[in-house]
Amino acid sequence: MDKKGLLIVISGFSGVGKGTVVKKLVQDYGYSLSISATTRPPREGEIDGREYYFKSREEFMNLIDYNGFIEWAVYVENYYGTPRAFVEQELAAGHHVILEIEVQGAIHIKNQYPEAVLIFLTAPSAEELRQRLLGRGTEEQAAVEKRMRRAIEESEDMDQYEYIVVNDDLEQCVKDVHAVIVAKTCMIERNREFMKEMKAELKAL
Ligand code: ADP
Ligand code: 5GP
Repeated sequence: MDKKGLLIVISGFSGVGKGTVVKKLVQDYGYSLSISATTRPPREGEIDGREYYFKSREEFMNLIDYNGFIEWAVYVENYYGTPRAFVEQELAAGHHVILEIEVQGAIHIKNQYPEAVLIFLTAPSAEELRQRLLGRGTEEQAAVEKRMRRAIEESEDMDQYEYIVVNDDLEQCVKDVHAVIVAKTCMIERNREFMKEMKAELKAL
């Protein structure tokens, strides 16, 4: 089977549960998780190097100049980017890597890595989404409104994704995302080399 790892892009509206789902995917199935850099200030409880690499705007610009990101984007007034080195090393080592990134970044990734799988997470309803975002309590009311407005824009890009998964019951959602990843790794396109070897072995028996 294909020895190179799979790049898994997970996006979704703010507050849908991306962080929660991704954390469980890593715990339950051992996926590698890329840690992004951001200019957003840390939320309470967030630790530099665990949730994000927190950078000043100047540091972030330097990383862009040195080609340190495989993609980066601006989301609600802050910069976010995926560090290049970790992703390249993990893929080469045959590990499946999750990128939890927004839609502009996802589209950049698909252009650079056409074999990547793009999964969009949604809540069961818009009202439930707003309740989760408010319930998390990490943003001021004005920031919540900006993120909800951004969700309207992001909904226009949902059809750029290959899979959409509803995060209603958390356990089920994690299982569904894992199932999508497994299905992608089994696709014929990813396994041409293996098929060739199998054909040759069969003939040589
Ligand atoms: P995101 O990373 O997409 O912004 P979070 O993972 O921070 O979202 O989740 C937002 C809030 O929704 C958190 O309070 C989280 O505990 C809650 N949450 C996540 N998944 C579910 C779910 N399936 N059902 C109910 N609440 C959820
Ligand atoms: P938050 O501020 O809620 O942690 O993240 C805001 C948005 O930025 C989310 O949609 C999240 O997926 C996205 N994001 C996080 N890291 C990256 C990244 O490296 N690149 C891009 N393009 N988006 C990211």
